[in-house]
Amino acid sequence: MMFYDCHAHQVGTQAGGLMIAIENSKVGDMPVYSNLALRQADLGEHFCKVEYVTHAFQKTTTRIVKYHPRFEGYSAQQVLRDIAIRRPVAVVIDTLNAPFWTSYDYWKIAHANPDIQFLFSHAGGYDIQKFLEMCHFTKNIWLDFSYIQNFYGVIGDRPKYKMFEDAMEYALVADFKGRILFGSDYPEYPQERNVAWYEEHNAAQLMNENFERFRALIENHREKKALM
Ligand SMILES: [Zn+2]
Repeated sequence: MMFYDCHAHQVGTQAGGLMIAIENSKVGDMPVYSNLALRQADLGEHFCKVEYVTHAFQKTTTRIVKYHPRFEGYSAQQVLRDIAIRRPVAVVIDTLNAPFWTSYDYWKIAHANPDIQFLFSHAGGYDIQKFLEMCHFTKNIWLDFSYIQNFYGVIGDRPKYKMFEDAMEYALVADFKGRILFGSDYPEYPQERNVAWYEEHNAAQLMNENFERFRALIENHREKKALM
């Protein structure tokens, strides 16, 4: 089955999706893209490149950027200010940052920038219900279940926390199912085994369509900006 992976740090078997760079020693020696490697890579038209914003808030070249508060230690206020300066068309934020950010911190950033699409990677971890609520009520919020789907045992062999399975199954049929994206966190977690779970839940096609729509929104946004 052809699939797009919206949370990958390396090319595996996906046909496209978001390719997210990491600029941090905390990932150890995993073979992942850095900003420079990503800039130089030729990934094809179905991939959106996403550069990583460090604590120094360095210059980026991509239309989508990733903020990683857990690694970089920046505050919600700093990210809000940086978005206002950088003006990306879409933003990926890692949401596993307890106890330093609350779910409201993420929400207010998305609220303040209604013309920017926000992908909240990992859907908030233990706060997953709050993130489903945000996605329901705020139309520029998208979620993926990368990392948590494996860590909390919905897929794979780790101990299962049933709340995550319920939340994921609900999200795939909920009113806001059009803003759920598939992500694997490859190469930390495998792609095929994760995709298979979405296939079993008749949601693999939905995930592909959602990415196409996400990409179209970004293209539209760019054209509008070019006209201004
Ligand atoms: Zn990741």
